[in-house]
Amino acid sequence: MKLISIMVPAYNEQENISSIHEELVQELEAVPYRYEILFINDGSRDGTLKEILKLAEQYNYVKYISFTRNFGKEAAILAGLKRVRGDAAILMDSDLQHPPILISKMLQGFEEGYHQVVAKRTRTGDPKVRTFLSGFYYKLINSITDVDLADGEGDFRLISRKAIDSLLLLSENNRFSKGLFSWIGLSKMTICYDNVLREGGSSKWSFASLINYGIDGIISFNTKPLRICFYTGFIVLFLSLAYIAYTFYEISQRGVTAPGYFTTITAILVLGGIQLISLGVLGEYIGRIYNETKRRPNFLVDISNVDEYDES
Ligand code: UDP
Ligand code: MG
Repeated sequence: MKLISIMVPAYNEQENISSIHEELVQELEAVPYRYEILFINDGSRDGTLKEILKLAEQYNYVKYISFTRNFGKEAAILAGLKRVRGDAAILMDSDLQHPPILISKMLQGFEEGYHQVVAKRTRTGDPKVRTFLSGFYYKLINSITDVDLADGEGDFRLISRKAIDSLLLLSENNRFSKGLFSWIGLSKMTICYDNVLREGGSSKWSFASLINYGIDGIISFNTKPLRICFYTGFIVLFLSLAYIAYTFYEISQRGVTAPGYFTTITAILVLGGIQLISLGVLGEYIGRIYNETKRRPNFLVDISNVDEYDES
């Protein structure tokens, strides 16, 4: 029988662990597969680890990795990918926003031979501003990057062993999973579900962290922002030359009528602004190079009952 691994990152989710476990088991018992449930405790400050350990003691299909501190969901996903042993893995949140009832559908897709089965959610119940901004963001990112991302397609997905191994080949430190999932290619099936609002605990996303995540997405997948700076420079230079020619003509016709203060201050501010933005863009890339060259591990494991997956 094939082995299915469920990967569940958890950060401060003590009130959700036992209910997600129950729901998962209910679904998993109904399908003809062996299964393991791998909880990745991302340095929670509440009783999450205790809840997980309690389950692991009772059930030997419950595996866990616990980080030394909070390393972020991307790190948790990577840790999970490295340690699942399944023929396929299903990645899902621990806050019950990813309905386990979809698992059987995902497995059907897997049996049909798809390497990724993605659950796509509607945005009902989300704040209007967030819905609007994400719609805009996906248009933007799809138009400037080479990967194809779809609004509503999150991390909730089944990935085959081949897809897992492909993801593990991507060794970058700064991981933007949504993009990586798309970058590896392979056949993909999408299933839709209705948005579920969070029951216990609270979302870890603030508005600022969403914006930063958005910038990460754009910058980790291409160098077009640099090209945009380059073109902006050209446009500004062209406009300046035109203005100089115009002023020169005016002076030759009418003599010097120095417009003075206003033009000077406008030029300084506009140019200063453009330069600062360009420097910022450059800085983002340099910062990333700096981080990548350090080759630090994405996470440190405190305790765990699974070893790193080894193909041999
Ligand atoms: N999560 C994590 N590390 C973090 C933040 C979140 O492992 O630093 C987990 C969290 O426990 C949950 C999932 O990632 O299982 C999604 O988090 P959240 O519900 O806050 O995000 P949202 O659903 O609002 O996108
Ligand atoms: Mg959530």
